[in-house]
Amino acid sequence: MHAIVTNPFEGHLSDCLEAQRSAWLDEGPLSVERRAEALEGLADAVLRHVDEFAEAVRQDFGHRSVHETKLADLYPVVAGLRHARRRFRRWMKPRRRPIDWMFKPATGRVMYQPLGVVGIIAPWNYPVQLALAPLTGAIAAGNRVMLKPSELTPATSALLDKVIGEVFRPYEVAVVQGGADVGQAFTRLKFDHLLFTGSTAVGRQVMRAASDNLVPVTLELGGKSPALVAPDYPLEKAAERIAVGKLFNAGQTCIAPDYVLVPRGSERRFAEAYRSAVSRHYPTLRDNPDYTAIINARHYDRLASLVADARRRGARVDEINPAGETLDPAARKMAPVVLTEVPDDGRAMQEEIFGPILPVVAYDRLEEACRSINERPRPLAFYLFSHDSETVEYSLERVIAGGVAVNDTLLHCVQEELPFGGVGESGMGAYHGEAGFRTFSHAKAVFHQARFNAAGMTKPPYGRPMERLLA
Ligand code: NAD
Repeated sequence: MHAIVTNPFEGHLSDCLEAQRSAWLDEGPLSVERRAEALEGLADAVLRHVDEFAEAVRQDFGHRSVHETKLADLYPVVAGLRHARRRFRRWMKPRRRPIDWMFKPATGRVMYQPLGVVGIIAPWNYPVQLALAPLTGAIAAGNRVMLKPSELTPATSALLDKVIGEVFRPYEVAVVQGGADVGQAFTRLKFDHLLFTGSTAVGRQVMRAASDNLVPVTLELGGKSPALVAPDYPLEKAAERIAVGKLFNAGQTCIAPDYVLVPRGSERRFAEAYRSAVSRHYPTLRDNPDYTAIINARHYDRLASLVADARRRGARVDEINPAGETLDPAARKMAPVVLTEVPDDGRAMQEEIFGPILPVVAYDRLEEACRSINERPRPLAFYLFSHDSETVEYSLERVIAGGVAVNDTLLHCVQEELPFGGVGESGMGAYHGEAGFRTFSHAKAVFHQARFNAAGMTKPPYGRPMERLLA
C-alpha cells in the first residue's frame, strides 16, 4: 500500500508532511513537465481502472448504480484532468498590470505561484470525484498534496490509494486513511492550504482547527438547495427534471434539489407529476441496477426518522414504490418520498435531507419565494424553472446561492469553465477548472523597477513635485 497512515498519534501524519515539505524545499514545486505528465497519467490510470472503481463504489454503497459512478465520479474526473492538462500553461502565465504614471517606466505583473503542500479531505458520497477533482487543481498549480478520503467508502479509498501510487511518488501525493480522529489530526497540520468537502458541522471544526496555524481553507459544504418552479413553467416538466436530479445517487448529492417551491394550489398536482416521473425512471426499486442504496444503516435510520417526524407533524407523506415491492431495510434501498403540507419547523425543512425525500412547499408570490430562500442559510445550489426572462433575471439577482441551474438540475457542477463552490453556510472558495488552479495558487504581485528611472518624487527631499500630487 502507498503511504497509509492509520494512527495519527504516532506522528506519521507530520512525518508525511515533513517528507513533502523537504521535497518542496529541495526540488521546488512540480515542474511544468511533471504537472502535464501527472495530469495525463492520472486520467489514464482512472481509465485503466474504470471497472474496478465501479465495483469498489458499488461495494461501499451496498448497491451503487454503475452508470452513476461512471457519469458522476469517473467522467468528470477524466474530463477535468484533461481540461487542466490542456489549459494549465495558459492559466500559469503571469498577467501584466499597468503601473501608475509616476512610477513608470517600471513594470507590474501578477505571477501565479504554487502554495506548497496542500491538504484535501473528501466525503463518501462521490468518493472518487470529490477526492480527485480538487487534486487536479492542486497538481495543475504545482503543489504537493496529502489526501484523506472518507472512511465510509473503504474499498474506494484503498483503490484511490493504489491508483494514486501508480502515478505519484509519496512526496508528491500521499493518501492518508482514517476516520474523524485522523481527520482531526490532519486539520491540525500546518499545510499551506486545506480544502475540505463535507458537512457544515464538520466544516466549522475544520476551520477552527486550521485557524490555529493560519492555514487558509476552502470549504465545500452542504445545505438545503431549493428548486423554485415559476407559474409560467410546465409543472410536469419541472417535476421530471427535479426527480432526475433528486434521485441521482438516491438523493445523496450535495447539490441535490432538497425541497421544491411551487405556486400555491399546485402542490398536489406537482406531487402527482413527481410520482409519475419517478415511476417512469425507476419502475422498480429493489433490484433496479440504476437505483442506489443509502450508504449505511445510520443514514438509513436518519432518513426514516425524518419521514416519521414529518408524519407526526401532520405532513402528507406519499411513498413512491411503483412496483409495490417489499424493501428490506438491511439492503438500504429506500423508496422515494414526496411530502406535502410540510410544517416549516419540522426536520424535513430544517435539516439537509441528503436522501430520496422531497418536501413540496407552496408560495404566493415570486418575491416572497425568493425572500424565503434568502431567509435560510445560503444554499449550495439553486434551481429555477422559468422561461420568463423577467422572472429569471429577478430570481438570479435576488437569490444568493453557490451556483445555479436554470431549467435543469445538477448540470452546472460538471462544467469545467464554471467555478464550483458555496457561499455562507454552504462554504467558501471554489474549484473546478481554472477556479481550482487559482484556489491552489498564490497571486503574487511583482513590481519591477526599470534600469533607468527617475523615481524622484518618492525619495526625500520631497519638495515641490510631491505637493503637486495632491493638488
Ligand atoms: P463529514 O463532514 O461527516 O465527513 C467528511 C470528511 O471529513 C470525511 O473524510 C471524514 O472522515 C472527515 N471528518 C469527520 N470529522 C472530522 C473532523 N472533526 N475533523 C476533520 N475531518 C473530519 O461529511 P460526509 O458525511 O462524508 O458527507 C456528507 C456531507 O458533505 C453533506 O453535508 C454534503 O452536503 C456535503 N458535501 C458537500 C459537497 C460540496 O461540494 N460542497 C460535496 C459532497 C458532500
